[in-house]
Amino acid sequence: MQKGKINVQTENIFPIIKKFLYSDHEIFLRELISNAVDATQKLKTIASLGKYNGDLNDITIEVSVDKKKKTLTVKDKGIGMTADEVDKYINQIAFSSAEEFVKKFKTKSESELNALIGHFGLGFYSSFMVSDKVEIFSKTYKKGGETKAVHWECDGSPEYTMDECDKKDHGTEVVVHLSEESKEYLEEFKILELLKKYCKFLPIPIRFGNEKHWEKVEGEKDADGKDKEVEIEKPRIINNTNPLWKQKPVELNDEEYKKFYRELYPYNFDEPLFQIHLNVDYPFNLTGILYFPKVKKAFEVQKDKIQLYCNQVFVTDSVEGIVPDFLTLLHGVLDSPDIPLNVSRSFLQSDPNVKKISNHITKKVSDKLEELFKENRKDFEAKWDDIKVFIQYGIISELNFFDRAKKFCLLKNTNGKYFTFDEYEKEVKKSQKDKDGNLIYLYTNNINEQYNFIEPVKERGYDVLLMDGVIDAHFINAMEQKFEKTRFTRVDSDTVDKLIKKDEAFPSKLDDDQKKILKELIEKQVDKNKFTVDLESMSETEQPMMIMQPEFMRRMKDMSALGGGMSYMGELPEHYNLIVNSNSPVIGNLLLETDAAKQTVTLKHLFDLALLAQNMLKGKDLAEFIKRSMEMATK
Ligand code: ADP
Repeated sequence: MQKGKINVQTENIFPIIKKFLYSDHEIFLRELISNAVDATQKLKTIASLGKYNGDLNDITIEVSVDKKKKTLTVKDKGIGMTADEVDKYINQIAFSSAEEFVKKFKTKSESELNALIGHFGLGFYSSFMVSDKVEIFSKTYKKGGETKAVHWECDGSPEYTMDECDKKDHGTEVVVHLSEESKEYLEEFKILELLKKYCKFLPIPIRFGNEKHWEKVEGEKDADGKDKEVEIEKPRIINNTNPLWKQKPVELNDEEYKKFYRELYPYNFDEPLFQIHLNVDYPFNLTGILYFPKVKKAFEVQKDKIQLYCNQVFVTDSVEGIVPDFLTLLHGVLDSPDIPLNVSRSFLQSDPNVKKISNHITKKVSDKLEELFKENRKDFEAKWDDIKVFIQYGIISELNFFDRAKKFCLLKNTNGKYFTFDEYEKEVKKSQKDKDGNLIYLYTNNINEQYNFIEPVKERGYDVLLMDGVIDAHFINAMEQKFEKTRFTRVDSDTVDKLIKKDEAFPSKLDDDQKKILKELIEKQVDKNKFTVDLESMSETEQPMMIMQPEFMRRMKDMSALGGGMSYMGELPEHYNLIVNSNSPVIGNLLLETDAAKQTVTLKHLFDLALLAQNMLKGKDLAEFIKRSMEMATK
């Protein structure tokens, strides 16, 4: 037996491993299994080069727990190691890289640590986070395994022992003697959970015990005359070794993509809208599938649905900094050996490789959307309501996405017709230019509530856009900045005459004195803090009184409600314009009325109607209005 001290240059790192890496102990399993996968793949490569002609039929990696012995074992049938190799790779190289890793950790703050932990780096020695002792049994594939197998053992002090042992097959068996605090890794459900999390798509089959299932017995019937079924046990294989993203896009159909989506998200019952298969090998390596999910009406920000893999090993489901923010709303997988994983997030964001990857993904996504738009516009329009939020978010937040997306970003009007920006500009250019040459895009965010305002606008020959999306308020702002001389105005923000300011003016039927009297009369009736009374001469047919909230004010409110930067202003006051059509015959009559009581009632009634049109007549005022209306009807 050989005894030795692991190449210690500094202090004993084991206590540090245990102390510093507390938050993510579970990754030890991923590390051990990754090593087993590597060793098996190496053997496959050697065989494919004709340098190994042994049996490769059963290369399944086995994970098992022994509750009595309190051990967890990972066993592979890979290349294995000779005693010299154990000495070199485990005692020297692995240890010194673990040592280096720990040194780095010691100088980091806790928050930095948390960003680092869970990414690659510690390898085999991470098993000491959960154990009192680790053993390796290994036999090399070389020379048909004539050399003796080697047994290595270390109890978490820098001393280890190495001796010969009996082992039939080539490959490596790592036995972890779990410590008292890490007993949870003896539980089947716990291990199953970890295997499902980290190993679901590893390229070599991983077995964990057996599973039961029912199988039909050929030609036999049970008592009820149905096909007889028996319960049988078979090895439980955890992973899909050939996940869809590794396959060739041309060989796959939509059904297979949907099936894979269900495999990724067993608890998400909605089907994805479509997907983008990424397959890049130059200047970096990246594969993956991004799905556009169906967005629920009530917009839930469901970030962190994209899983990041490194050569099929699960790394994280937080891809912030790796893909542009708006794409974190997508679902799916990304797999790249070129994303540096053992660095902090802030570093990631400035990494030129990551920048390139991020730009590439943005380009791919816009190419795909453009292709869908060009190939089948009808279908694209049918999906629009679901994908709109991604595209708008992208346009707002990613400069180079906007340049591409303006070709296929759609506007929808209240008749359900879709336009690109170019098309819409052509559509409204003639009638919706104001006197300063601005194009005015009129919109509503709720057809039902603003019906009373939409109709007269349409009668005037204007078009009305439907902007009822969750981030439309922000989107509108962004569009006004990107397109010169384009303004968005909600249909109820001003009178039809003034929504698009033209030069024409209606002469007033009232003289200045009459106007003054009328204004005072009305101001007495309304809350001055809430309403500014404004007399305007419009066409006779316009309504006598209207309540408007100026576009700017309302939009500020909308944006602060969405959390768009203006929130520091605090609660914005409710303020409206009460616009009175001084040319309306009803207003004219009101002025002529000699019975003061009657005048007040009529005025109140007109004001209530204006409130009603804005959905602002509530409670006691509404009850009084109904009562008054009943009285009028019976008179
Ligand atoms: P890494 O895997 O990052 O190289 P590890 O500390 O996990 O670092 O492992 C160190 C080395 O030990 C590996 O590079 C490999 O040569 C060897 N090794 C570890 N596990 C196995 C195994 N299951 N089979 C064969 N060799 C292994």
